[in-house]
Amino acid sequence: MRIYNTMTGRPEEFHPIEEKKVRMYVCGPTVYNLIHIGNARPMIFFDTVRRYLEYRGFAVNYVSNFTDVDDKIIKAAQEEGVPAEEISERYIAECKKDMEALNVLPATLHPKATEEIDGMISMIETLVQKGHAYPAMDGTVYFRSRSFKEYGKLSHKNLDDLRSGERALKVDGAEQKEDPLDFVLWKPKKEGEPAWPSPWCEGRPGWHIECSEMSRKYLGEEIDIHGGGEDLVFPHHENEIAQSECCSGKAFARYWMHNAFLNINNKKMSKSLGNFFTVRDVLEKYDGQVLRFFMLSAHYRSPLNFSEELMESAKTSLHRIVNCAENLSYLLKGERTEDMTEEETKLLQEAGRFTEAFVSAMDDDFNTADAIAAVFELVRFINSHADESSSAEYLQGLEDMLHRLTEVLGLTLSAGESGGAEDAQGLSEAEIEALIAERTAAKKEKNFARADEIRANLLEKGIVLEDTREGVRWKRA
Ligand code: AMP
Ligand code: ZN
Repeated sequence: MRIYNTMTGRPEEFHPIEEKKVRMYVCGPTVYNLIHIGNARPMIFFDTVRRYLEYRGFAVNYVSNFTDVDDKIIKAAQEEGVPAEEISERYIAECKKDMEALNVLPATLHPKATEEIDGMISMIETLVQKGHAYPAMDGTVYFRSRSFKEYGKLSHKNLDDLRSGERALKVDGAEQKEDPLDFVLWKPKKEGEPAWPSPWCEGRPGWHIECSEMSRKYLGEEIDIHGGGEDLVFPHHENEIAQSECCSGKAFARYWMHNAFLNINNKKMSKSLGNFFTVRDVLEKYDGQVLRFFMLSAHYRSPLNFSEELMESAKTSLHRIVNCAENLSYLLKGERTEDMTEEETKLLQEAGRFTEAFVSAMDDDFNTADAIAAVFELVRFINSHADESSSAEYLQGLEDMLHRLTEVLGLTLSAGESGGAEDAQGLSEAEIEALIAERTAAKKEKNFARADEIRANLLEKGIVLEDTREGVRWKRA
């Protein structure tokens, strides 16, 4: 398996610290509002990374935090006149609902920054003792960036270039910083803000120290994969590396993975630009599976433009896969010969090459676009090599193959859930079956007008009926 490492700027063979185990940390959202679909991109992608690693036999310890103390949360709380915690708890709950709709599995652990303050303070104390951090007169504690010789190694920035860039800017706290590049580890309380006692002053942690501490506490000083969106490379991840490595004296993460942006009109989707759709907005029109499919249809390091057109095309493509799965499950429900014929054994082996193509795409830095192409090849193969004359064993073999691959992508196609690929106006499988039963009864009573009406209504909703020797068969058009 090869993973593109932002640190070295090239794909590298994946060797975890412990054989068959992966420790992975992904920076989670700041919870002050509903998440937008840009935030959903890393959630969906890293969930897919986790699923694939598990498919490849790794035990994955996956930690992703919620940033639940932050200026934006405090501002939202002040505007609503409620405690900050009420805002963060509300949006953590909402975020979890969105994750579920997108079939993003809960991480092994979702720690919250506010519950990890003691650990952050002890990490800052270590940094002060080692000379990597210093408190200023007002109790703010700064990290001394220049004390870490490798500062800039992730973002490939040179300290002196950064320094001259900073000179032109107005730097926060400039009067008390030793160097404009120094960043905040702890800051004093302001009126009405949540605060915790510390050796320096009552206050709260800076953002970067959160992740260093939560990663250390739950995954250890050295981890395998650290991820997030590419806007986190500098300064967030650069600062995390400086803090963690100065504290432990060890290399923090082996592989740094960053997803490119989800854009709208070629601009990064973001709350501050106001050019965003929340996941909730999109779920009103599309099933979460369609959004997930859309996100995975591009390689994670390529920018992805969100548009109605692309969502429609994702919906159509996903329907093709769902259709194939539904046809298989329909065929499996009928009377079939049990055992595979010799010919079928060969065909099933042949179909194995699509799994191989899928695996080699995913092994190549999680190329989900090519992996999806392999799934379509399998779908095409099934559509032309499975029918009512196939044996149960063979059909089951194909179904298992299709499901294993789509599960890695987090797409649910199993009977009952397949309606998940439908939009809000779509009919569930149970509703379709009920209408078909009503049509059969109408035909028996020679009420052909009603029977035709049901067929026409179903067709309008994209459901095609086919009368076969074994009864009525349906599929989504
Ligand atoms: P935030 O809540 O801004 O800290 O973001 C949470 C996660 O979403 C981080 O990993 C960000 O890098 C990522 N993110 C934010 N906006 C976008 C976007 N437009 N495209 C892709 N990832 C994004
Ligand atoms: Zn982080």
